[in-house]
Amino acid sequence: MGVKREVTKLLNLPGVIVEKIQDTEGALILSVRVENQTARCPRCGQISHRLHQNKRYLVKDLPIGNREVILYVNRRRFKCNNCQKPFSESLDFVGNRKKFTHRYAEAITQQVIHSDILNVAKNNKLTAEALKAKERAKLFGSLKGSKYTLLKSESKLSKKQRKKLKQVKEASPLIGIMHSLKEELHQIFEESKNLGEGTFKIIDWLVKAKTYYQKSVSSIKRWFSEVVGYG
Ligand SMILES: [Zn+2]
Repeated sequence: MGVKREVTKLLNLPGVIVEKIQDTEGALILSVRVENQTARCPRCGQISHRLHQNKRYLVKDLPIGNREVILYVNRRRFKCNNCQKPFSESLDFVGNRKKFTHRYAEAITQQVIHSDILNVAKNNKLTAEALKAKERAKLFGSLKGSKYTLLKSESKLSKKQRKKLKQVKEASPLIGIMHSLKEELHQIFEESKNLGEGTFKIIDWLVKAKTYYQKSVSSIKRWFSEVVGYG
């Protein structure tokens, strides 16, 4: 039994094979490839076998044991026989242009929800400030034009808005907290018996949210009338 096969099993990403293992001081760098030799053209839907280009880049994944794992992913470019244009394959485990796997983002989101930002930063060997600055930059980039999607109740979103919400959440592992705080805010309006009680709860909510997103809270304050009017 080869080591690569063992690590492929440990990695446990369906359809993904470890081709090379670099055991560096900081992390295990695993060069991976997908089993599938073909990809579907996003324009016309036709399956292409024509490899156009290999494009490798680094993606953070969940640790294996106590070792940090970075995947050296090949997002291949294929050429469509029908459209005659190249396209990048879409991978199940990592979003386009994302620096972390879906499951890594999911794990971080869970950590954020269940602990505080300092612990998350510590567990992920980032300083709280770096994490905040990075995530904030991403957050505000992805928030552009997403105000409505984030404020509207998830159950009332159209298919297109749902997709946008997914994109926004993918853009930042911390967006989950933003969204769950919003859901909480919505809950306050649903459950409060009178405006006075609701207002006090909202002040509490804003104080809590402020520790995560100072700018977002200012935005929410600005959007306040819209939030109040929603439902
Ligand atoms: Zn095509």
